[in-house]
Amino acid sequence: MAKGEVSQELIEKLKSIVGEKYCITDKEKLEPYGHDEVTDPHYMKPAQCVVLPANTQEVAACVKACYEADTIMVPRAAGTGLAAGAVAIFGGVIISIERMNKILEIDKENMIVTTEPGVTTAVLQNTVKDAGLFYGGDPCSGDSCFIGGNVATNAGGNRAVKYGVTRDQVLGMEVVTPAGDIVELGGKVRKNATGYSLMHLFIGSEGTLGIITKIYLKLVALPKFSMDLLAVFDNLDDAIALTPKVMNAGITPVCVEFMDNASIKQVEVFLNEKLQHSDIGNYIIVQIAGDNEDLLDEQCEKIDELAREGNALDVLVANPTVIWKSRKAYLEADRARSLVFSMEDIVVPMTEIPGAVSQISRLGEKYNVAMHCAGHCGDGNVHIDILKDDRTQEEWEDMLPKIQQEIYKLVYSLKGRVSGEHGIGFKRAALMAKYTNPVEIEMMKAVKKGLDPKNIMNPGKVVDVTK
Ligand SMILES: Cc1cc2nc3c(=O)[nH]c(=O)nc-3n(C[C@H](O)[C@H](O)[C@H](O)COP(=O)(O)OP(=O)(O)OC[C@H]3O[C@@H](n4cnc5c(N)ncnc54)[C@H](O)[C@@H]3O)c2cc1C
Repeated sequence: MAKGEVSQELIEKLKSIVGEKYCITDKEKLEPYGHDEVTDPHYMKPAQCVVLPANTQEVAACVKACYEADTIMVPRAAGTGLAAGAVAIFGGVIISIERMNKILEIDKENMIVTTEPGVTTAVLQNTVKDAGLFYGGDPCSGDSCFIGGNVATNAGGNRAVKYGVTRDQVLGMEVVTPAGDIVELGGKVRKNATGYSLMHLFIGSEGTLGIITKIYLKLVALPKFSMDLLAVFDNLDDAIALTPKVMNAGITPVCVEFMDNASIKQVEVFLNEKLQHSDIGNYIIVQIAGDNEDLLDEQCEKIDELAREGNALDVLVANPTVIWKSRKAYLEADRARSLVFSMEDIVVPMTEIPGAVSQISRLGEKYNVAMHCAGHCGDGNVHIDILKDDRTQEEWEDMLPKIQQEIYKLVYSLKGRVSGEHGIGFKRAALMAKYTNPVEIEMMKAVKKGLDPKNIMNPGKVVDVTK
């Protein structure tokens, strides 16, 4: 692994590339870069130096300088990650793309947007919407995360059922390699069978293979109508069981989201607002969209029928602002209750969701710990927040691996995986190594060693080639 300590000589070199103002070494200004959104102090580390290049050429020059000084680099976007991927755990220079925040072109005829990586996802969504087009990606953190971070983590989100995850939106990208070379992978083409798809290796590579400096994204026509339905169940198993029924009813919803009762109550406290049926309800939120209003009405009736057959207490057309504000507040609400918590991000085949959620949620009782479940059940991805209470840190650290062991044994027995969308970063690297076929891990290491032989680009994240 390259060096973690950043020399004064390298700092001076970086200043000469980006300008003194954009090379941060002041302790106070460095504070936000010492963590992402993982709240456990184990996944935090004060940064020594952060550079903020203005364009691809400056990124490449900074990378070359670090490469020549044999010093670790950590790419960083908005820092909303949930895997400690953008934290300089092993030291080195953080290369932040936050100043690269311009949408370069909206090509309406080809339905492609070309953007720098530091554009906030919601800004990108709204800008293309103003041009009459639609970007399918929609992580819950859209108001704060950057599109470059989304590509680097292959972010999922609420609309993945219909539009797919970030990977499904990307047509091309420009990348700065760990040695500082600039290369374009894919581009404004809808098909590409020209050799290995290296672009797909970079999507979800979490900054371990290079720095993404430009992105080409697919757009679609803006749907004319959309409707959000809220089905409320007093029984958790009944709620979850609605998901495969909706998915198999010949309807392609935009999303099918889930919140258990404990999460709803927590959000209610956090927002200080009364939520419908919060006393006993578990929520399934279904969004449908399209250009034919009559068809949407028919689909709405079908979902209502399926939910009531499945023992729903109530099915209503939801106020989109209220329901999405509540759903998106899930994580913040848990953090407000307990600063230290572990957010698991399991994914299982969609039909296994009911069994997985009902078994996992019972672990809360077994370990006498608060566990809240919510997520994107339409694509088999559920978040489980395990909240630290007044247990000591020692007791917490003793208990957490036991719960995780039970969760992941179950998930893997159901042919699931450790992470559906939040990624591996530093937080889940050991978990992934433990549960993944060693042959697959060796293949990942071969990719990392091949593209980053000096192990200089975000080392120790995703796969640790030194082990
Ligand atoms: C409230 C909340 C809700 C969330 N909801 C969702 C959700 O619905 N779906 C979801 O998938 N995630 C969600 N997340 C997690 C997070 O927002 C996503 O992982 C997001 O894609 C990270 O983007 P970022 O800009 O913050 O990236 P960062 O956190 O800055 O970086 C993430 C990773 O990408 C790498 N990276 C960043 N930029 C580049 C680049 N230009 N080139 C190469 N590597 C780079 C970093 O090294 C790091 O490993 C949520 C987080 C929060 C706090």
